[in-house]
Amino acid sequence: MLKETIEQLAKTCKYLNTSTEFFEDISQPKAVFEFKIRPSISGKQTILPIIRVWHCNPHSTGARPYKGGFRFHPGVNVELLKVLSMDMTKKCAIADLPFGGSKGGSPIDVKKLTKKELRDITEKMTKEFLRHNVLSPDIDVFGPDVGTNSETMFWVYNKVAEENSQMRLPNVSAVVTGKPIEHDGCPGREDATSKGGLIVLKEFIKLSKCLPEKGATLAIQGFGNVGSNLVRLAPDRVEFNFKVVAVSDENGGLYNENGLDFSSIESWYKEHKTFKGYKNATEISNEDLLLLPVDVLIPAAIENQITAGNAMEIKAKVVLELANEAVTQEAHNILKYKGIQDIPGVAANSGGVVVSFIEWARNRGSRWHTVDLNKIGEFVDEELRKIMQTVIRNVFEKSQTLSISVNDAAHILAIEKIYEKMKQKHGYK
Ligand code: NAD
Repeated sequence: MLKETIEQLAKTCKYLNTSTEFFEDISQPKAVFEFKIRPSISGKQTILPIIRVWHCNPHSTGARPYKGGFRFHPGVNVELLKVLSMDMTKKCAIADLPFGGSKGGSPIDVKKLTKKELRDITEKMTKEFLRHNVLSPDIDVFGPDVGTNSETMFWVYNKVAEENSQMRLPNVSAVVTGKPIEHDGCPGREDATSKGGLIVLKEFIKLSKCLPEKGATLAIQGFGNVGSNLVRLAPDRVEFNFKVVAVSDENGGLYNENGLDFSSIESWYKEHKTFKGYKNATEISNEDLLLLPVDVLIPAAIENQITAGNAMEIKAKVVLELANEAVTQEAHNILKYKGIQDIPGVAANSGGVVVSFIEWARNRGSRWHTVDLNKIGEFVDEELRKIMQTVIRNVFEKSQTLSISVNDAAHILAIEKIYEKMKQKHGYK
């Protein structure tokens, strides 16, 4: 995956005729931190690696931090985090957010751990990252990702605050985003990635006229933070007007061509922790969900789902990549060959980091003179809409001007923006 990513980066840099120094700078991460912690799991002391990768910060680190999610998932390794941190740099650049790109994680399966064990792991890793000055409001700010959520972010914040009695960092609540609202979080952060993705999709359909503006059918892979909020928000008549016909988690999912009802499947899922046995839809495997004859396919689970092995069989007219790296580079090329509109994660899933920026800025005390959460919620909603529409308009315009795919246009736009900033920062050509 890393090799493919660097090859694609090399092509983009060649196309833009950037300097060799620049390519060398951004093809390798600025820093990789790997530490070991010793939590107790099932009563046994275990050695657990924790990793954080800083890809590149086109801004001034120490004032404008690195930013990226932290995931708990068995598939976490340094190579994956190098790729995902590069994606973060690109998506912050496309959305004009003053952050560099980072990503972190630990290879654990949250389903096999108790809440107490998870909290202990989170607190131990927080102390370790603090000790090495990796985690800080102006240096590197963590957010939720696969296997972590607002509760995990609260545990990190709470631990940092506890330790802060000695460190005296200012603006300590800005050390993580995606916190619960009652603990310095931001209204609108929880569903920002999903809402941002739907705003992008709606605007893209309007610009490209590739589908009718109302009633497009969606198949969604994943029912975690991003997937479940997509299923909930997509049918909203006023705002989006999409019809969700399929959804899945890692063990399979549901299909009903007449549409799925969010509250009914959500209450089933909450009670049974699986889609199996649900009555008003047909059970479907993850593999089959990806190949359904729908208008829009939305991978919202995990990387490497649309590959050279299945891309030729994809029947959707649009692929909206909300899970990072869900579509491999080879598969992007196949989708292009098939004429499928393919909006990459770096353009489609930045809604989360957009609202994280607002949360971070608010935690630092800038421009917020109200405690009225409704007013803040309205501001967040408006800002998210404006930024996501601008992102997809700029990407679409670039693809039209250069007669290239939307996927290629997004990567070119991102690298152009990063190159401009890096020239100012490092003084190279
Ligand atoms: P999550 O942990 O809340 O949910 C993940 C979902 O994926 C679960 O439903 C799980 O069952 C499913 N899943 C896991 N492995 C699978 C597999 N092999 N096949 C099919 N389904 C599988 O995670 P999330 O926060 O919803 O993130 C989903 C994706 O969106 C990730 O790629 C993440 O990096 C990306 N993303 C998330 C955010 C955010 O704000 N949470 C922001 C940007 C991008």
